[in-house]
Amino acid sequence: MLLTNYKKEIFRAECNPEFQSVHLKAYLSDNIEKVLPYLNTALGGFAYYRDPQAVTFKNNGRLITVQGNEIAINALKDIDEANKVIRWLVDEINNTWENKDSIEPSYTGSPKPNIIDILKYLPKTNCKKCKTPTCMVFATRVAEGAFSGDNCPELEPEIKTQLNEYLSHFSFEE
Ligand code: SF4
Repeated sequence: MLLTNYKKEIFRAECNPEFQSVHLKAYLSDNIEKVLPYLNTALGGFAYYRDPQAVTFKNNGRLITVQGNEIAINALKDIDEANKVIRWLVDEINNTWENKDSIEPSYTGSPKPNIIDILKYLPKTNCKKCKTPTCMVFATRVAEGAFSGDNCPELEPEIKTQLNEYLSHFSFEE
């Protein structure tokens, strides 16, 4: 087992105590840096950093960052969810390490869709029917994986199909 123990801290965002979501930081008993390129492949990392090594994942609207000695997870619903997600992640880290011989390590993040490319499919009327202020903001949300062509009611079916086909070339961790 690579990661045997950790100490966790769960807290609310200091910038706005009104926010209901919580954040989690876990301080690891063992340095897990060597598993990071394998974990990047196994869980489909969104971004990979080399100095110091760290990998970031998107998971159900949360951002998870794993470094050698520390894990940070944001936008968790509550303490129960925080405990569930950290237990899942520790299992994934140890399972990935056990199976590393069959996993190709990766030192780069997944390719992401281009916001300008997405914008080309949109009507660019900024009508706000998608509940975002502009088509550009909508395109940004699509690039993040939070929205798809289905969320713009103004898209012609044919264009929606084209946009969703473009997006199908990228993987979004959910
Ligand atoms: S509903 Fe479509 S056209 Fe309207 S603002 Fe949103 S993305 Fe733009």
